[in-house]
Amino acid sequence: MQGIAMTSPGFLDIQRVIEIDRFALPVTFLFPDANIEDLRPNADRLSPHHVDFETSSLLLAIQSMVIKWGTLNVLVDTCVGANKHRPARAEWHQLAETAYLSQLAAAGLRPDDIDIVFCTHLHADHIGWNTRLENGKWVPTFPNARYLVSKTELAYWLARETREAGTANHGSFGDSMLPILAAHLVDEVEDGFDLGHGLSVRGLPGHTPGGMGLEISRNGHPPVCLCGDAFHTVAQAFQPAWSSRFCADPEQSRATRLELLARSREDGLVIVPSHIRGHIGFQMHAQGPCLLESL
Ligand SMILES: [Zn+2]
Repeated sequence: MQGIAMTSPGFLDIQRVIEIDRFALPVTFLFPDANIEDLRPNADRLSPHHVDFETSSLLLAIQSMVIKWGTLNVLVDTCVGANKHRPARAEWHQLAETAYLSQLAAAGLRPDDIDIVFCTHLHADHIGWNTRLENGKWVPTFPNARYLVSKTELAYWLARETREAGTANHGSFGDSMLPILAAHLVDEVEDGFDLGHGLSVRGLPGHTPGGMGLEISRNGHPPVCLCGDAFHTVAQAFQPAWSSRFCADPEQSRATRLELLARSREDGLVIVPSHIRGHIGFQMHAQGPCLLESL
């Protein structure tokens, strides 16, 4: 981790930097085999932030999680991004400069302050702010950061990019990954990689081939796992068998979710999904998932 100043971690501060909120998707669009009635017994916990029962929709946010850990500033996932050409997705297409960077500023950080950009996986709604448009060229948004990317995930999308140049993953590999690779800002990591100071990589395959979570160990407190899309929604804590239509390997995705839930029951692991709204994460208790508003 050359170039990163490591000091002793202090208070763990995780904030959401939101790009699109109330991103609603019909339950059966995201989970083709799901029946919303299976969520009804837990409506008191899922409404109003996570499920709109009137429209049978899941409610998501597209956001980054920013972590201040000692003097280390970590950004987990980077949303859709501004000015990205995504004609197949109207909600993402050519977003004007959004409030994203001003929200980051409100969290007390400029782009230059980010030490690590942790990419849980390389879907288009997780890597967009890796780059920004400057004089017609895509340049790294966080020039002082090391961008941590799964070796398996990178190989998978590089192969796709070779076959489908410029169009892989809505074109996001071309405009949001290739420029940071060209700038030599990417470190390829794998399950178990130790970032120091209690931060480590946890392989979470299934949603994508090399999906990974950022785990934070804290003295005297339960560990935390920022798990990307291993959980799209806390609804999956009630229905862990539900894999999304975007999961590359639905069976593996299910197994990864069950393993995270088992760990949460055993050691209190706090699970922080990328798209969670209204809460920061959840923890499994004897009576089921307990939603947390802060850590
Ligand atoms: Zn995803």
